[in-house]
Amino acid sequence: MELQKFFCMNGGSGDLSYASNCTIQSVIVSSTKAVRVNAVVEFYSTFFPENMIIAELGCSSGPNALFSAFDMMEAVEQRCLQLRRSPPEFHLLLNDLPANDFNTIFRSLPEFYQQRRRMESSGCGQFFVSGVPGSFYGRLFPSRTLHFVHSSSSLHWLSQVPLELQEKSNAPMNKGKIYLSKTSPTCVAEAYLMQFRKDFSLFLKCRAKEIVAGGHMVLTLMGRTRGSEPSWPEYSYMWELLGEALMDMASQGIIEEEKVDSFNAPYFSPSLEEVKQEIEREGSFSIRTLDLFEASWDAVHGSRQTKQEGAALGEITHAKRMAKGVRAVLESMLESHFGEGIMEELFSRYTSLLEGYYSRNEPQVTNIVIALTRKFEEENILRASVF
Ligand code: SAH
Repeated sequence: MELQKFFCMNGGSGDLSYASNCTIQSVIVSSTKAVRVNAVVEFYSTFFPENMIIAELGCSSGPNALFSAFDMMEAVEQRCLQLRRSPPEFHLLLNDLPANDFNTIFRSLPEFYQQRRRMESSGCGQFFVSGVPGSFYGRLFPSRTLHFVHSSSSLHWLSQVPLELQEKSNAPMNKGKIYLSKTSPTCVAEAYLMQFRKDFSLFLKCRAKEIVAGGHMVLTLMGRTRGSEPSWPEYSYMWELLGEALMDMASQGIIEEEKVDSFNAPYFSPSLEEVKQEIEREGSFSIRTLDLFEASWDAVHGSRQTKQEGAALGEITHAKRMAKGVRAVLESMLESHFGEGIMEELFSRYTSLLEGYYSRNEPQVTNIVIALTRKFEEENILRASVF
């Protein structure tokens, strides 16, 4: 599967769009505000650049594309007021895969500019935006040009499904499953971990070339709490239940079972240890923060709601909200493999399975937040002479 060609969140701003269904991703962006703001203010207060170049990687087509930049600019401007300095000019580079609906973000820019203009009297700097289509598993920007890189809810997407799992055979490696599962053999877990290592280290290498020495990077991605052993059987109810819905459809002859066997998610949620190892092995960045936190599908607009409160407000159930969120993310990928026309049926089954799961559990999504600083060359030379 060539991910770049077809993988995109549902575009536009309709009922099934990513923009209308990125609930959990918005909760995650809000949860990491302090890490981002501290890092950007520290960078500004150390170097006082006249213009600040910020890249948002995996920006997608929802409100979060501009949300975090807004936070960061506001924080730097506040600092400038305290220091009685003029604010820097900001240049925001929005990156995503070429199939992303950049136009939806661009269309929301006039409103965003207006919001900024309202703050002008309190000293807000000039702000420029550009779109940069391409994969973040390759070079995207000229050398040593970025001051700050931010990416949220994107780096758990691999560059491809591990090649071992793509091999056509009569005995598929991950039979009946679409991601790592309790019953997946060890070799599947190993293949996923190897792909993550390769991709993440390439990501770091590319960013190391593009970020100025002393520049910062804040990354948030889905992670897992336990197990740094590749043989540890990963369990993700999100994928497990989607696989179950697909297998149900296969057992009723609605789709072919081989189609399910040959579909594997290009996704991996690493442990803290796996992330740390790759950052240290690559060597260009110092780790400032490396933490796990939980986000919940029942948190709306930043605050946690009970099921009863949600129902009283006429909200759709948590399970329905989650199913719509997953659909907005995965529809393009599932359609290109299973064909159009099964989505309604698939997501109705998925919603029912999630309803059952929700009645027994309090589902959470585990995330990893990482704050890094690009080392100065001397630090690397020193490191090389020590080791
Ligand atoms: N940051 C946004 C969007 C998260 S959805 C938010 O918090 O709401 C994940 C995004 O990552 C998608 O838009 C997807 O297209 C993008 N993505 C996945 N792999 C990518 C890659 N290799 N290069 C660039 N973007 C990628």
